[in-house]
Amino acid sequence: MTRTILVPIDVSESDLTQRVVSHVESQAHIDDARVHFLTVVPSFPYYASLGLAQSGQLPSMDDLQREAISKLKEIAAQFQIPDDRKQTHIAEGSPKDKILELATTLSADLIILASHRPDMSTWLLGSNAAAVVRHAKCSVLVVR
Ligand code: ADP
Repeated sequence: MTRTILVPIDVSESDLTQRVVSHVESQAHIDDARVHFLTVVPSFPYYASLGLAQSGQLPSMDDLQREAISKLKEIAAQFQIPDDRKQTHIAEGSPKDKILELATTLSADLIILASHRPDMSTWLLGSNAAAVVRHAKCSVLVVR
């Protein structure tokens, strides 16, 4: 059976994405696996949405999702994987929950993600990466 690889992408962190590219490509090429890219738009924390709403600057969730999916498609296009073997997904909510949820839905065989933002050097694993490693039912490749 074709292997399924899930690659969660934070579209605002291009350095993180660059670190996973070669790993995703070589894993995908081993057996022509299917690669699913996911980006999660975090829900607005209540206090932030209140402040932004009052200043009239609140972008709609639709706009945020449209922007995120178009960025994700641009990012996915940079990976040397045939178009018919890659797919993009968007979700809204907590990144770690949505990553784990899609991994279950897809019966993913492998999740590939970057460990953390380079500027968060005190942490070896970011909070999303840590939760995915801890709770995923499949193998997880953490790229440092
Ligand atoms: P940090 O806290 O340093 O940002 P994270 O654990 O959030 O570290 O990020 C590590 C990895 O988790 C990212 O490389 C990405 O794969 C995944 N990730 C983080 N945020 C998102 C998001 N909003 N959507 C999809 N994946 C995400």
